[in-house]
Amino acid sequence: MIPFEYLAPRTLEEAIQCLDPEDPDIRPVGGGTAIMLMMKAGVLRPTRLVSLRRVEDKYREIRVNDAGELRIGGMASLAALEQSPLLRGGWPVLARTFRSLSNIRVRNVATIGGNLAHGDPHMDMPPVLSALGARVLATGPSGTREIAVEELCVGYYETVLNRDELISEVIVPPMGGRRAVYFKVTTRAAHDWPALGVAVSLQPDGGSVRNASLIVGAATDRPTRLHAAEALLRNATPSDEILRRAGQAAADALDIVSDQHGSAAYKKHLLSVYLGRAVRAAMDASKEGASHDSH
Ligand SMILES: Cc1cc2nc3c(=O)[nH]c(=O)nc-3n(C[C@H](O)[C@H](O)[C@H](O)COP(=O)(O)OP(=O)(O)OC[C@H]3O[C@@H](n4cnc5c(N)ncnc54)[C@H](O)[C@@H]3O)c2cc1C
Repeated sequence: MIPFEYLAPRTLEEAIQCLDPEDPDIRPVGGGTAIMLMMKAGVLRPTRLVSLRRVEDKYREIRVNDAGELRIGGMASLAALEQSPLLRGGWPVLARTFRSLSNIRVRNVATIGGNLAHGDPHMDMPPVLSALGARVLATGPSGTREIAVEELCVGYYETVLNRDELISEVIVPPMGGRRAVYFKVTTRAAHDWPALGVAVSLQPDGGSVRNASLIVGAATDRPTRLHAAEALLRNATPSDEILRRAGQAAADALDIVSDQHGSAAYKKHLLSVYLGRAVRAAMDASKEGASHDSH
């Protein structure tokens, strides 16, 4: 391994100063779970790592503000989020999805900022947070800007973040009357990487769907909104026929990419089937007055 410098500043501001907008070999480190794998595989040879472990405690806070928004510090661990009573009570789809992600050893150290900045299209949280309309705050040398999670990823391991910007906070709007589910379709263990991830957040209106936000992960180079299926479901009663057509429209609209978790044809079939199941589960959850488990 090529030697590198390791810094652990005590403030976010100092951490940002240790980064360089021009140098891809200088990297911030949240939990380091993704970075270490990239270093072991030889695809990342950093000259400097800037740990975020010791920055101010406020960047690990999980709270709900007066507007009912969930505010998560960028360095909060995935385990803290999974166990938070705030998430379990107000955003159960998030708590359940965190639990299905990898194993507790990874979740204990991995951070939500590192999770969203990594840009791997197979990750579970970006589709769910996008369907819920979440945003991140990105803090850099000239201040903080807000970016929709849906706009964050622009290709394989590529985000709109500048190299000297850090995800300092994640903001999730209140659920209101919306119901959300995430179906993580795996081919081996339930906590494995998904062959496909389908996130649904919908506003029920009696037995109909007033509107739905549908995002698929692990299908293309980034989490993708399923516009055609959303249009079919708007103000519709989700009969078997409508759900079949929505699933087919979603699958037809995407140029799905094969990977080690499944061929493009297999993923297309999964999407055509699981989209309807996920919408049905969200509607059933609304009847019970509770959000549904992720699968
Ligand atoms: C065995 C294993 C199984 C896994 N299974 C799954 C799975 O099933 N589903 C799933 O979704 N994920 C899975 N993962 C991925 C895991 O979710 C990520 O590795 C983890 O969330 C990354 O968080 P981190 O804090 O460790 O990031 P790091 O490794 O610290 O960083 C990742 C990237 O983000 C950058 N970064 C870190 N923090 C910030 C910040 N605050 N602002 C801006 N940039 C930042 C880093 O420079 C790096 O480019 C798995 C990982 C492992 C090791």
